[in-house]
Amino acid sequence: MIRLLPAVFLSLTMHAVAAPKPAPATPAPEPTPAVASAPAAQPATALPADAAAPPPAGQPRSTYSQCHVDGPYVAMTFDDGPHGANTPRLLEMLRQRNIHATFFLVGQCVAEFPDIVKKIVADGHEIANHSWSHPQLSAMSESAVRDQLQRTHDAIIAACGVTPKIMRPPYGAFTARQRAWALGEWGYKCILWDVDPLDWKVRNAEHVKTEILKQAVPGSIILSHDIHKTTVDAMPETLDALLAKGFKFVTVSELVAMDKPVAPKPKATPAPKADAPASAKAEPAAPPAPKDKVKP
Ligand SMILES: [Zn+2]
Repeated sequence: MIRLLPAVFLSLTMHAVAAPKPAPATPAPEPTPAVASAPAAQPATALPADAAAPPPAGQPRSTYSQCHVDGPYVAMTFDDGPHGANTPRLLEMLRQRNIHATFFLVGQCVAEFPDIVKKIVADGHEIANHSWSHPQLSAMSESAVRDQLQRTHDAIIAACGVTPKIMRPPYGAFTARQRAWALGEWGYKCILWDVDPLDWKVRNAEHVKTEILKQAVPGSIILSHDIHKTTVDAMPETLDALLAKGFKFVTVSELVAMDKPVAPKPKATPAPKADAPASAKAEPAAPPAPKDKVKP
């Protein structure tokens, strides 16, 4: 990830108005650009407040952090690659279990490892756009965001011939306007997540496995990063445990295709029961666990 640092740090410096930080000498575990209005309490990695809000009536939904499905389906997602060593290792683990996942690719890594991108597609996984150099898109101009997404879009097509249909903004940071625009421009749905093992932060395979198993529910979109050895190390036991619990793996687009609208809660109902229906947790008012911990 060292090669990503200049762009990441550029993004940092653009926002470090109130409390500029020194340049990290080694890959930063998590960029937390300071925000002028609330330098201590409001990390810029927080997701937009309306990131998973339902669309206006009659308009297609543009953003998903989880899906509402009838069966025990989940989508494993792997961000920030492809990685020269860890991604091929992961692909073998997935192949052995006949699991299809979704890879949110960083454009400059696509350009570096086009053969791995081909292998991802050949193995039946979904590929998706995760920007060119992993900046915080919500803070950038429209032309700069277009460049980030279009270059990656083109690089993916050049590498494997497949047109990505979905994207995930780095750090989950994408404004409502940008989401509507990306949907119109490229047909991109914006994919967030509801399960976050913080694998970028806690480089421990046991922790990654424990958190994923603890958080995953039917319809989950599980965030992880195949650039980290510890995350890939965690996968055999994690995947086997999820399979043992009855989960079935699909790609994000397959999960989205199964998504069912959640009926609005009746307002005239008398006192709600103590055991809330499943729909109570189906549509979070805000995106999951943004805080200062997100590193998609
Ligand atoms: Zn990322």
